[in-house]
Amino acid sequence: MTTEAKRLCPVCKKELVLEETGYPMGSAFLKTDRVHVDIYSCPECKRVELYASKTDMVACPNCGTLHSPKEECAICALNKALEGER
Ligand SMILES: [Zn+2]
Ligand SMILES: [Zn+2]
Repeated sequence: MTTEAKRLCPVCKKELVLEETGYPMGSAFLKTDRVHVDIYSCPECKRVELYASKTDMVACPNCGTLHSPKEECAICALNKALEGER
């Protein structure tokens, strides 16, 4: 058994289902870095809850930038694009 805390729906107290982890949110409300969230949804009332995701960040081996393992390092991708495919 894990000791992981369960996410419960605040409305109907059902256990929320993890839909997506480390999802990159746009910078609509944060002007600094992009924020990554875990997306949970309630199977009962379809309410969606977002939780800040910190566990899934990985450091880029090239430049050390923290990013989601689901996406490429933005810095390296940019550098690669500027250099052209070599
Ligand atoms: Zn609910
Ligand atoms: Zn990088």
